[in-house]
Amino acid sequence: MTDTVTGAPPAATHSALSPTDELARWLELFDAALTRGDVQAATGLFTADCHWRDLIGFTWNLKTVEGHDGVRDLLAGTLAATQPASWATEGQASQAGGVTEGWFTFETAVARGRGYARLKDGLCWTLLTTLYELKGFEEKKGRARIKGAEHGVQKGRQNWTERRAQEEAELGITVQPYVLVIGGGQGGIGLGARLKRLGVPALVIDKHPRPGDQWRSRYKSLCLHDPVWYDHMPYLPFPDDWPVFCPKDKIGDWLEMYTKVMELNYWSSTECVKAKYDEETKEWEVHVLRSGEPLVLRPKQVVFALGMSGVANVPQIEGAETFKGIQHHSSQHPGGDAFKGKKAIVLGANNSAHDICADLWENGADVTMLQRSSTHIVRSDSLMDLALGGLYSEQALENGLTTDMADLIFASVPFRIMHTFHIPVYEEIQKRDADLYERLRKAGFMLDFGDDGSGLFMKYLRRGSGYYIDVGACDLVANGDVKLKSGVDIARITEHSVILSDGTELEADLIVYATGYGSMNGWVERLVSPEMAAKVGKCWGLGSDTTKDPGPWEGELRNMWKPTQQEALWFHGGNLHQSRHYSRYLALQLKARMEGLDTPVYGLQEVHHAA
Ligand SMILES: Cc1cc2nc3c(=O)[nH]c(=O)nc-3n(C[C@H](O)[C@H](O)[C@H](O)COP(=O)(O)OP(=O)(O)OC[C@H]3O[C@@H](n4cnc5c(N)ncnc54)[C@H](O)[C@@H]3O)c2cc1C
Repeated sequence: MTDTVTGAPPAATHSALSPTDELARWLELFDAALTRGDVQAATGLFTADCHWRDLIGFTWNLKTVEGHDGVRDLLAGTLAATQPASWATEGQASQAGGVTEGWFTFETAVARGRGYARLKDGLCWTLLTTLYELKGFEEKKGRARIKGAEHGVQKGRQNWTERRAQEEAELGITVQPYVLVIGGGQGGIGLGARLKRLGVPALVIDKHPRPGDQWRSRYKSLCLHDPVWYDHMPYLPFPDDWPVFCPKDKIGDWLEMYTKVMELNYWSSTECVKAKYDEETKEWEVHVLRSGEPLVLRPKQVVFALGMSGVANVPQIEGAETFKGIQHHSSQHPGGDAFKGKKAIVLGANNSAHDICADLWENGADVTMLQRSSTHIVRSDSLMDLALGGLYSEQALENGLTTDMADLIFASVPFRIMHTFHIPVYEEIQKRDADLYERLRKAGFMLDFGDDGSGLFMKYLRRGSGYYIDVGACDLVANGDVKLKSGVDIARITEHSVILSDGTELEADLIVYATGYGSMNGWVERLVSPEMAAKVGKCWGLGSDTTKDPGPWEGELRNMWKPTQQEALWFHGGNLHQSRHYSRYLALQLKARMEGLDTPVYGLQEVHHAA
């Protein structure tokens, strides 16, 4: 076999080698080609259908390229500046189904990296390259940790408490933060911890009175939907007796504790009211109300960590203003306590809708769910066993997979082919839970498994909506305890009822709009300007050309954790797993800029959609 691009022979006589030696041989050839600056030869070491995902190692971007053209272009654009070297296998590679896969390390001119490769027939099929530390700016951990105590004698010295108090008193007042993180939910807090470790002066602000309030303020019955192994914050894992599904107030308390022990500079009760960027001074002017007092902050970089579930979508419905009962978006729903014996209408049939319906039903309300379009349902247990368990579970830990390793393996599957990994899982889930799905269909519930049957996580990546992880509410819908009207919308609202699009009138004391959230650049529109929001464009989604994720194909989530079209503006968010993992790359990008390292961005994403 010869490579169609270079005419070169395959990378190695791979079949005679152990998996680890095969990977080592590939790395050796790759290293040699890169060191010679021979882009063509390096490209020839990849399969024609390859994917290379780089998380700031070569590109100072989160970028996936495909095929020989993609690899060639990436290398041509980045090789000279990156100066990669010291490629070496890490641990033992493995082989199954004709694919050899394993870990490796490498260095660039300015950083150290780690990666994961999958080889087919001696050529690289998928490559992940990531940075984990900048040379000369390593985190002070392990052997490099600070001493804490200053032995010896010194007049008038400050102790830790005094130094902390001084830092807190100065930052944002007499000393400007380099980074301002707007939004101190779990995303902003985790990023704050990474920046602190890297010695980046950062301030995290949140409008709530206490860290963790974002979770506390959600409805009473809420527990995390994802299991504990998936949910750790950076650096400080939950204790090993932590519940599988953490109750919301408990996670709130954890975040508050985390903020304190990680020594974050965190201003609670501080709301950002507007911001603007001065292209000449390269500085932001951010207006905040700190406990009601106006104040201006002037950071160099601003991170919007305001939540991808942040800007509430509330439909404009004729007659809504005449309604005499209570109506609110799901994000404002306080819980079902006050609605015993009341007639509740929940518009929507995704996660929040199901949770709220169950909560209202438990509190004795008469509940009707209005399903406008089909929903993907997956039982929590099945999701844990079949979809997440291999990487995030007690079993995975026993198999030696740390959270960091699991995150990197997860990240090593290119988005373009990720659905092919998921489809068989959801086929299995459909078989396992056939009874539930049958009962739901019989109740008139409209089900789907994503446009291509790839299920929950792909829906989450593509559109961030359209699913419910079943923790019990499906039974209520299937057996009629929660009444269901599907294929309808609310056409009109009267003083005491909703009129549906099929003409049905339902009495109502409460209407909950579980109608989801808009794109995160809606925060930019609200706090900076519509022009800047349009300039950076839609956040999230892959351009998969599936429902609510219009093409063209982007290869990575739009705008998340990477440079945007607006200098010095960044977006951070996602679930606990994503925030934990991707905050590493965002923090390193910010640190590199603060230290004045050259960070040429390869393949800055184009904007195809305004929102
Ligand atoms: C019902 C439900 C269940 C969920 N279950 C899970 C789960 O199990 N696992 C999981 O990982 N995720 C879950 N999520 C998703 C969850 O919302 C996110 O993981 C998490 O909240 C995202 O954190 P974040 O910090 O990015 O955003 P948020 O938690 O939304 O934090 C944004 C912060 O910005 C602050 N803010 C807003 N406007 C301003 C302003 N102008 N100035 C200053 N501060 C401001 C808010 O007060 C808030 O604290 C769930 C979501 C919902 C709705």
